[in-house]
Formats: sequence, C-alpha cells, structure tokens
Amino acid sequence: MQEKRGKAKRRGLLLRIGIAVEAAGICTAVLFFTHTQEEAASETLSTDTRLYDESGGTSRDYITWVDFNVTSDAMRCALQYDLDTYGSDIHIDWIALLAYAGCRGGGEFSSKSLSYIRDLAERMKNSETTVEKLSNELSYFDYYYEAYSAVLGGYVGEYEIERQAEDGSTAMERVYGVKVFSPIAKGFGYNDYDDFGASRSYGYSRPHLGHDMMGVIGTPIVAIESGYVEALGWNRYGGWRIGIRSFDGRRYYYYAHLRQNYPYAEGLAEGSVVTAGDVIGYMGHTGYSTTENTNNIEVVHLHWGLQLIFDESQKDGNNEIWVDCYDLTNFLSRYRSEVEKVGDTREWIRSVPMTDPAVADYLAQ
Ligand SMILES: [Zn+2]
Repeated sequence: MQEKRGKAKRRGLLLRIGIAVEAAGICTAVLFFTHTQEEAASETLSTDTRLYDESGGTSRDYITWVDFNVTSDAMRCALQYDLDTYGSDIHIDWIALLAYAGCRGGGEFSSKSLSYIRDLAERMKNSETTVEKLSNELSYFDYYYEAYSAVLGGYVGEYEIERQAEDGSTAMERVYGVKVFSPIAKGFGYNDYDDFGASRSYGYSRPHLGHDMMGVIGTPIVAIESGYVEALGWNRYGGWRIGIRSFDGRRYYYYAHLRQNYPYAEGLAEGSVVTAGDVIGYMGHTGYSTTENTNNIEVVHLHWGLQLIFDESQKDGNNEIWVDCYDLTNFLSRYRSEVEKVGDTREWIRSVPMTDPAVADYLAQ
C-alpha cells in the first residue's frame, strides 16, 4: 500500500523514448530525447530513431522506456473494430489503432483519441491506408506499435472455451476475442483507485509500481494472462508472491501480499504453466517483513504489477520498466473468471475450462 493517495504523476506531454545500443556486448549507451505533442504527430522528424553499433560487432536495439497512458475507453473502442472485422477481408488490428492514437496524442490519451481511432478504422476499412503506410508516414508509429504490443500482445486471439448448450450438454467452442482476465475471480468484490506512482516508504523511498485491489482474505486470484511461473515464494516487500512471465517473454506479472499460511493454488510451483483465468493464489496481507509468512500490511489487498522486458538486461535492476496498470485493470474488469470451491478445502478452481493455444505452443517447444 502506498502512504499517500494521489494520482500517478504523468509525464505531461513529454514522451521519452530511449534507445539502447549494445556495442559488442560490452558497453550500453542510452540515449533519451524528448519532443512535444505536435512534434510527435509531425511527419517531418527523422525516422531514423535508432542507433546502431558501428564497430562491426553484433548490434541490438530495444525500447528502454514506455509510458502506457492508453485509457480503458480507447482500448474498448479499438477492440470493437478488431472483433468486428475478424475474418473479413480487412482485419483491423486494435493495437495498430491504439498506436496511431498514441502517435497523434504524443503518448497521451483523451476523448480526442477515440476520434483518432474511429477515423483511422474508417480509413482502413475503405482501404485508404494500411499499417505499412502508417509505419512509413509517422515517425513514431513503430515505437508505439511495439510498446503497446508489448503490453497488450497476449490479450486478443483465438482460444477454446467450454460453452453450455440449451440441453445442458457442454462442448469446447473455438472463439476469437479477449483471452485475458481480471486478477480477481468472478463474484468477488474489490475496491481500487488510480494509485500508480504514489509514494510509499517501506524499506526505502520508492514509487508505487503497480496497482492495489482491496478485498477480503482468501479471494481467489487468477492469472491475468497465460504464462509460466518464473518466481514463487517470500519476498520482503511483496510477502508471498508469484511472478508469471508471458510466453513471448515480454510481460512479467507480479502478484503480491498473498494469504498467510495458504498463499498459493495447490501444486503451483516455479516452472508451472498456467492458463489465463486459472486460480493461482489467494488474497491476503503478507509482506513488509524479512520474516516469512508475516502479515505486516494493514489493508488486505492484491498488489499486481506489470513489467515489460524488451531485453533480459531489463529484468532486474535500474532498467526495469513497470507500466501503469490502472486502466488495464479497468479494461480487464469485464473479463472475470468463474470459480468454484473444492469440497471442504480452502481451494478454489476455475469453473469454465479454457484452452489457450499459446500454452500448447509453449509446451511443444
Ligand atoms: Zn501495491
């Protein structure tokens, strides 16, 4: 929990794009530059925003900063075009719509962003433009597309879910749509507010790099996206916590302060593969202690965070990128995983089986 309530301090109209160049695998140079909203929409800026290693060694470049300010309204607006055009001649990619709106607003989103999304969707439907054209015409389109893909890349796709027919029989049905879930199981309440970046001081002064969802002890916590468990156990800040990496490696979901004595879903361990919507643990208030299994957090809540990883050097240390997940939480609130209690145990499991092809692809590797 943060100590001071307050909206995350936005970086205003300034956008920071960092380009890191790793020269011969030894030195890493980071270039930051800023530009204004107008400049971001301008088509006159140099499109060469990347630096390359000129020493003849292996060169690599990757995004080093992302301000994810996409609103849940913009996500829903763009998503609808994607869903509506799936299977048609011109399938409109929702992330391309959001990247375009990001370009036009210099990374900021407002009610205007919805007009940008609608205008572009109409132009794409009429074959007046394409993602390739946008990439050529707009200096920062590729940056926003890659940044927003890193956040939302696992959200939409084909999957199979169990559906019940009128006669009560069930069968797996293949569908295209949102295949991620709110971290709070269906039927369980929570409170939250925009708390990204608020200050907190346990251990040392640091901003709040995640989102808190206040509820009751034992509330089943589900995996937002499918992935594999990369970390599980005690952490002095997060208490009993779980870290799940997306299969493409770009997202690391952090779920913290899980229940004392019974934090995790039965059998969950490092290396476990989970499907979005699976119960992974239970809400509690552990953490802020070097002693394991200690409740030292006043308010019962789930803290979840989303870290982006474009390069493994960003996994731990000073180069970590944690994005604001308040609007993501709001977007996800419409997708809740139904769960049921297992007999007389304290365990809950999902009620509606789902098959995410990403899981099979990963296991087949
Ligand atoms: Zn928190």
